[in-house]
Amino acid sequence: MRVFLDNAATTSMSEEVIQAMLPIMREDYGNPSSIHACGRKVRAKIEECRKKVANNIGASIGEIFFTSGGTESNNMALKCAVRDLAVKRIISDPIEHHCVLHSLESLQREGIQIDLVRVDERGRVDYDHLEELLESSDAKTLVSLMHANNEIGTKQDLNRISEICQAHNALFHSDTVQTMGHFPISVEETKISFLSGSAHKFHGPKGVGFVYISSDNLLKPFIDGGSQERNMRGGTENVIGIVGLSKAFELAIDNMNERQAYIEDLRAYLKAQLTEKFEDIQFNGDHDGDYLYTVLSVSFPPSPKAGLLLLSLDIAGISASGGSACSSGAEKGSHVLAAINAGIDRKTIRFSFSHYNTKEDVDFLIEKLKALTPMKEMVEA
Ligand code: PLP
Repeated sequence: MRVFLDNAATTSMSEEVIQAMLPIMREDYGNPSSIHACGRKVRAKIEECRKKVANNIGASIGEIFFTSGGTESNNMALKCAVRDLAVKRIISDPIEHHCVLHSLESLQREGIQIDLVRVDERGRVDYDHLEELLESSDAKTLVSLMHANNEIGTKQDLNRISEICQAHNALFHSDTVQTMGHFPISVEETKISFLSGSAHKFHGPKGVGFVYISSDNLLKPFIDGGSQERNMRGGTENVIGIVGLSKAFELAIDNMNERQAYIEDLRAYLKAQLTEKFEDIQFNGDHDGDYLYTVLSVSFPPSPKAGLLLLSLDIAGISASGGSACSSGAEKGSHVLAAINAGIDRKTIRFSFSHYNTKEDVDFLIEKLKALTPMKEMVEA
């Protein structure tokens, strides 16, 4: 038996998504830039997908650009904002995904001022500090704050950040890779300059995503080449991927409430089982406040087997994800756990769910954990 509890890393593709992609692989192989019928048919398909994606987040068609995934979308937003919109300063936080943090490091080397807003021990953004930072300079600023953290699941308040940005005339980018398709997001309701999405986080294919760029922001090409993606991104489109993304996104939006309720139950069940059966279990992030329901970041106490917990789970048939606060420098620790001061003597494992997981998966995990982490002593009634 293999139990997959690593859905924040990636998700399996839905059968409906695979079915939607097959005709593009088999029959509709025309190049969307060709002017003959084979090309035109595929071009129309891409534009249909763009329309669906745009409708699902309240955007206009011209504001959606297909990319190779979340990493490219975030790179595009940050780097083009600096190059084309005269942004001189970016305010972000220390728990962003590496595709944002490393982009910021590279922009800093080019002279852009980077300021990091404080986060608390649950990874929640300090909104007062954000305002202070915005008030401290007149430089044209972009605020880049992720919607939900991929390691600890803490979710930020997009509306509040958007309002703060508007009050200070700052642009706002949010890495929404973990929340797109899992929470309702509407650019009609929340004013935002850039958003990112990645198909493989919502049961679509890998290597395809999209970026929303609000029409107020006119950008030059990110990849020079042909005039694909309204000149923003040259190169023949990943049609198979785009069709898969759009189908997976549609399914995620249409079934969002049921999937959420189902996953919330599984997560609560795992939380309850862990707390009831094992010694000194803690949870990282805003686990009972504003959280990403697909993620449960569990902090296990020090014990003889804690160091090899992730490997032992893997051998036992469970795929999950590691993450530890760095102490020695020998092992490259998680920058997120370090930023929230998670205990360096403890062992963090991130379990992340999809609607394909079952209660039996959780029972299987609990059974395997019995040999790996200290259990509570059962008091006889
Ligand atoms: N941002 C966040 C928060 C993520 O979790 C990920 C994926 O792990 C990415 C960005 C990168 O997305 P992709 O794998 O599509 O490049």
